[in-house]
Amino acid sequence: MELSRRHFFKVCAAGAGSTSLAMLGFSPAEALAEVRTFKLAHTTETRSTCPYCSVSCGLIVYSLGDRAKNARSEIIHIEGDPDHPVNRGTLCPKGAGLLDFVHSENRLRHPEYRAAGSSEWQRISWDEAFTRIARHMKDDRDANFIRRNESGQTVNRWLTTGMLASSAASNETGWLTVKMARSLGIVSLDTQARI
Ligand code: SF4
Repeated sequence: MELSRRHFFKVCAAGAGSTSLAMLGFSPAEALAEVRTFKLAHTTETRSTCPYCSVSCGLIVYSLGDRAKNARSEIIHIEGDPDHPVNRGTLCPKGAGLLDFVHSENRLRHPEYRAAGSSEWQRISWDEAFTRIARHMKDDRDANFIRRNESGQTVNRWLTTGMLASSAASNETGWLTVKMARSLGIVSLDTQARI
């Protein structure tokens, strides 16, 4: 191969430059590899379900922290679960913006109670919430349960309380929910899910 004088100097300059950079530890290949470090490499993955609509798309929630005791996790990224049969990794714009929902200051995080006639909500514990719900259900069922209809046929109906189940429940949880509600005599039972 014939080299012109100008071309010869260009080749030498490029070679010297690369060698110097490599000697200083600035290998272009290594530098590129460093830039492309996967940002989710050290996160914890948790599978969940989008809470917005009845489609119930599967999610993977990425958080910093390894769930060690006393360590506080921070959710930094949410994306569609490619293994989920409903959405195969896709999310609509609402689901794709879930990170804002998670970190919203207006997000309800605890059970709250508003007394009859009051305009104020007060935070209560989960124990207190469950106890109140159970108390109300028991009292209402005792007062309104229908054992027989007008013809004397056994019906065991409880018409004054309804139940709205979660769209995020699995088939097994849904099956148990229906069994529990029907065993109490609840007739009005629905769920947000349409899957
Ligand atoms: S990602 Fe969109 S379509 Fe899927 S459950 Fe959430 S709101 Fe519904």
